[in-house]
Amino acid sequence: MTSSGTRAAAEPQAQPPRAGRKTAAEPRRPASRVLVLPQTMSVKDLALLIDQTPIDVIKQLMRHGIMASMNQIIDYQVASLVTSAAGIRTKLAEPEQAAAPVKAAPAPESANLVTRPPVVTVMGHVDHGKTSLLDTIRKAQVASREVGGITQHIGAYQVEYDGKKITFLDTPGHEAFTAIRSRGAKATDIAVLVVAADDGIMPQTIEAIDHARAASVPIIVAINKMDLPDANPDRVKLQLNERGLVIEEWGGDVIAVPLSARTGQGIDDLLDNVLVVSEIADLKADPTKPASGVIIEAKLDRRRGPTATVLVQSGTLRVGDYIVAGTAWGRVKAMTNDQGQAIKEVTPGDPGEVLGFGSVPEAGDVLTVVTSERAARTIATDRERSKSVQQAQARALTLEEVVKQIDAGDVKELNLVLKADVQGSVEAVRQALEKLTDAEAKVRVLHAGSGAVTESDVMLASASNAIVIAFTVGNEPGVDRLADRSGVEIRHYNIIYQLIDDVERALHGMLEPTYTDVVVGRAEVREVFPGRGNTKVAGCRVLEGRLVRGAAVRVLRGQQVVKETSIAGLRHFREEVTQINTGMECGAMLQDFHEFEAGDILEAHRQERRAR
Ligand code: GDP
Repeated sequence: MTSSGTRAAAEPQAQPPRAGRKTAAEPRRPASRVLVLPQTMSVKDLALLIDQTPIDVIKQLMRHGIMASMNQIIDYQVASLVTSAAGIRTKLAEPEQAAAPVKAAPAPESANLVTRPPVVTVMGHVDHGKTSLLDTIRKAQVASREVGGITQHIGAYQVEYDGKKITFLDTPGHEAFTAIRSRGAKATDIAVLVVAADDGIMPQTIEAIDHARAASVPIIVAINKMDLPDANPDRVKLQLNERGLVIEEWGGDVIAVPLSARTGQGIDDLLDNVLVVSEIADLKADPTKPASGVIIEAKLDRRRGPTATVLVQSGTLRVGDYIVAGTAWGRVKAMTNDQGQAIKEVTPGDPGEVLGFGSVPEAGDVLTVVTSERAARTIATDRERSKSVQQAQARALTLEEVVKQIDAGDVKELNLVLKADVQGSVEAVRQALEKLTDAEAKVRVLHAGSGAVTESDVMLASASNAIVIAFTVGNEPGVDRLADRSGVEIRHYNIIYQLIDDVERALHGMLEPTYTDVVVGRAEVREVFPGRGNTKVAGCRVLEGRLVRGAAVRVLRGQQVVKETSIAGLRHFREEVTQINTGMECGAMLQDFHEFEAGDILEAHRQERRAR
């Protein structure tokens, strides 16, 4: 860990904080370094990240007129006031980085990059042989290994083939794959798509293809059950072709390997190809940094306490490291591999089961190594506290919000997951939707299928910032809750024209009008006078715009809104008036509010209908 400090200057991303160090106002960091900050963080977190004491940060904020306590959650804009004063360049983390304020993201320009093993997920339709394939690969490899370990299920295992390591995530299926992705982490480099040669492409095969594609993960097709007499690999290839997966022998770039998980035929060929694809992907990571990775699986073990399988993605995780993943934190007490053997360190691309978390992290949580117990605890507690803030931010991506993003030029694609009653209508709707694509924006149907909206649909939408369009179908049980929690909008339609209309309007910025808050005037309270009874009158000067009797008004004290109410009356000298303009003095009375203080700002505002 200590070595990280000396390298910090070369790192483009946030480094784990060095706890307990105090620095002078003079920036210690070279100006070229860019610190990645999350959208929100506590004052304490910010202090840790920039290596200052919380008091220093609070003082800096005060200089900008912001009163904040140590545990106050501030946003990126406020934080940058402090960082720029200290000469630290910052940038806002990408959404998925935001979950990990001190995530040591892979540094492509690092001189210490070494090739790491590929991480493979096996996907496909139920009963096509995913579990069997994983078992066969594992057994063949374990048999050839030296004696010692006993196979442990830790959610991932590793084999050595042709002198190279390959990591398999052994929770087969695209649900786990997408669940991790929907939490902002990417764990898989290659998807092996298992298709039974006697059955061909089935609905979940298509789902798996769509999920892998949405994640931009290369696919290798394993045509399984070749030992069966009715195996028909050509039909599988044809069906793949229809789905846009053109295999190599037909001039495409998709590798298809006929095999049998039962007899072991073709398994070597599959592993050969995994190595080829991983070589092309040129998977590299820097093992010399403090580790970061992703939680693959975690549980509470009665005997051992919380255990978590970590896939290390960058750096090296060592026994003794202070770790934080989501809201769980601790110190690595011990680690084991998939053979149940104790290990001292885990390098990039490798999985390891970690003991030492104080609570159970969630699959998909990003794991970060930090330099002290204090840092780990602080970050985890702050995340706990700001969970609601973060949840609010991960909140519903609605069609309207997409429109705003399209308007702002952020989104060039409207991602959709489409469900309809029968395959015929799925295709009809999909084609109609895809026709809406034009120069400004593109409709991208990530997945289309028949039947009710499933949890898997929602997870795909959540992972890909998509909206679910349900045509004449409902939701499966549990879907509403998941959609709510993950902030995915599901729009139900019974009439195709309405559906198309809505999406078209969304694309062309003509959705139902939205309302925006417009400030019509700001006045500063100069003095406070007694009014009738116990009431108070604010003697103000209008700084900009105007105050209008009856208008909605908010009372601002510093950064804080102390009251949201309306203007009950306005007086110019002794005269009752309906409006006061810029530069003029007035007496203002507010509905149900009399606790004015000199310096308060009265902000009159109204909801403006914004036609689209
Ligand atoms: P999963 O649902 O995709 O995980 O499928 P499983 O691995 O559980 O396999 C489903 C069934 O297919 C089981 O009865 C397996 O024994 C059988 N199976 C799997 N692979 C093969 C194979 O290569 N050949 C034959 N004949 N059967 C297989």
